Amino acid sequence: MKVIFHPRFYEVYTHDPAAAPGRMETIVKALEKDFEFVEPEPATERDLERIHGRQHIQYVKRELMVYEIGCLAAGGAILAGEMAFDGKPAFGLIRPPGHHASPHSCWGFCYFNNIAIAIKRLISENKIKNALILDFDLHYGDGTANTFSGSKEATYHHPEGANREIFMNDLQQSLQKEKGYDIIAISAGFDRHEEDWGGLLKTEDYFSIGKWAKEFSIENCNGRRFGVLEGGYNHSVLGRNVRSFLQGFRG
Ligand SMILES: [Zn+2]
Repeated sequence: MKVIFHPRFYEVYTHDPAAAPGRMETIVKALEKDFEFVEPEPATERDLERIHGRQHIQYVKRELMVYEIGCLAAGGAILAGEMAFDGKPAFGLIRPPGHHASPHSCWGFCYFNNIAIAIKRLISENKIKNALILDFDLHYGDGTANTFSGSKEATYHHPEGANREIFMNDLQQSLQKEKGYDIIAISAGFDRHEEDWGGLLKTEDYFSIGKWAKEFSIENCNGRRFGVLEGGYNHSVLGRNVRSFLQGFRG
């Protein structure tokens, strides 16, 4: 399994926890021994426009560094999606995150909806007709849900649960009752970990989630699967949580 990463993701493009210094370094350190890294190209304006309105794109452009790194993050998601379609599961180790970016607005450390842009690109190339999106971040991905609301192109799942067991059961069941998708895309946020903001999941739970997503992809979509990074803010556990997920998710 390849990890999509660009050295510009180290840059501190703004002052929020997703852009914090050291956040990407800790993940790269945890992954570099076991995974091969690939550099993405930035997404083009055409790629962005499949999801976002022109005014929103202009709004993000006012901060040039945010715009440039945002385009690289979206490009990382696109590359992960393309590789997954070609039968090579991939993970976009990217930032800024994307799941709070709607077509015409954004918040929550997000600017462009990376996962939606990647899925729309595959649809525009007639490679896939639809995608299942599993978002296990602590926060509801309103941007992704808004983007695909009322659309048959993607189904969005955000499992919930007051405790660890309920959450993991909800996640597993939401995969078990779905079928008929060409690809599964994971919004992988690690802020629900017991030592992160959500205080719920253990590191090994991310392995289980990765494994279930892999099994889903093998049973339902010829193994086509990719993930992209969303949240996750405790640098002392983030690296091992991402690694745990990818060890379950890889072939
Ligand atoms: Zn989050």
